[in-house]
Amino acid sequence: MTKAEESRKAAENLLKKIDELIDRPVRFMEVCGTHTVSIFRSGIRQLLPEKVELVSGPGCPVCVTPNDYMDMAIAYAKQKDIIIATFGDMLKVPGTSSSLNAMKTAGADIRIVYSPLDALQIARDNPAKKIVFLGVGFETTAPLSAATIQAAGNENINNFFVLAAHKWTNTALEALLNDKDIKVDGFLLPGHVCVITGEEPFAFVAEKYKKPAVVAGFDALDILQAVYMLAKQVKNKEAKIENAYKRVVKAEGNIIAKQAIEAVFDKSTPSWRGLGEIPLSGMQINDKYSKYDVLKQIAVEKEVSKENPACCCGDVLKGLKKPIDCPLFKKICTPDKPAGACMVSVEGTCHAWYKYGQGR
Ligand code: SF4
Repeated sequence: MTKAEESRKAAENLLKKIDELIDRPVRFMEVCGTHTVSIFRSGIRQLLPEKVELVSGPGCPVCVTPNDYMDMAIAYAKQKDIIIATFGDMLKVPGTSSSLNAMKTAGADIRIVYSPLDALQIARDNPAKKIVFLGVGFETTAPLSAATIQAAGNENINNFFVLAAHKWTNTALEALLNDKDIKVDGFLLPGHVCVITGEEPFAFVAEKYKKPAVVAGFDALDILQAVYMLAKQVKNKEAKIENAYKRVVKAEGNIIAKQAIEAVFDKSTPSWRGLGEIPLSGMQINDKYSKYDVLKQIAVEKEVSKENPACCCGDVLKGLKKPIDCPLFKKICTPDKPAGACMVSVEGTCHAWYKYGQGR
């Protein structure tokens, strides 16, 4: 049997077992945007029995970044002595009345980087300019931002700054679990995040809220295996945290990465698109490294931020609406001309629905 045939057989076997275990409609949420893409790309939604619904959660970092942050980034981009360094996705995210893309077209110096270390290099190469790195992402990207800030400190670089908006994923899950409108029977936990954090930060899902949760990897079989483990817990009326991605995720996580986060960031209470303010869900640069916190070092005026009332991205991120429920989907809002953040990132739910079809 070829490897492909073996995989197909294993997938069929898991789908059959899931079908046998589940005897009522259930909704499982994939928290991570990378899962969303993998689920769409592999057609898992259509393969699962109709009684098993997968809904996307708030695990796309670009999607949860609110207009307030984009407007602040745009305000910095307007300054003649500032170079903005950012991951490419952020360029298209609409702010209240503009975007970084529009600013770049208008002549602002905005550079795409693949790592905060690239931004630090731009600072070394341009001593007469101030470099502002847009630090967006979850526990997966925060350690590298932290390490870059530490490197800037070690070299005593004075023209490098970060607009920090890193966030803790587990806090968003707790916000969803506290929302009575959101009905979810179990969670596929984000494998990449758990590589850094370990399983412990998600223990509350089972202990406090009595919901099953499984740490999942990213290929189709990984995801089906995790759905099967969730189905088994539902069938047995259990609620525990299991790890279906043990080859990568260790219980204790990545100690060095966690230490880097702890050395540079304090917990803060930022706003998430769709979820509002979540206590202690953010990472703000601590006093020791405040020299690199652009909000503390460079004052700018930004416009009063407003969310686009026609965009349902907030409800999509909570699993309350599907992209097709949004009147702008595909008509006005497309990946080339996104009206909301969920259409921008390849990990965004609206983007996935646009690219791979609507699933169920
Ligand atoms: Fe927002 Fe566009 Fe998604 Fe509608 S389709 S919810 S406008 S991102």
